Amino acid sequence: MATLDCKEVLDNLSDYIDGEGSEELRKAIEQHISRCGRCRVVFDTTGKMLKIVMDVAPFEVPLGVSARLYARLEKVLAEEE
Ligand SMILES: [Zn+2]
Repeated sequence: MATLDCKEVLDNLSDYIDGEGSEELRKAIEQHISRCGRCRVVFDTTGKMLKIVMDVAPFEVPLGVSARLYARLEKVLAEEE
């Protein structure tokens, strides 16, 4: 099975949370998150943020949300390195 690095996991995280992506990709992401505490935190945070967005606006998610989210995640990762 292909292994993903942190950037690949983050690039595909929104698809994973949305229930999209191939079976192999989803398994690879799960495997990475189970081993990588940093991505697990990002995954938990992202999932909560998306859920909040969905709760507030169940019919329409603003287009800018995911772009801002990723900008923030990249900033968090950059600061930890
Ligand atoms: Zn990672």
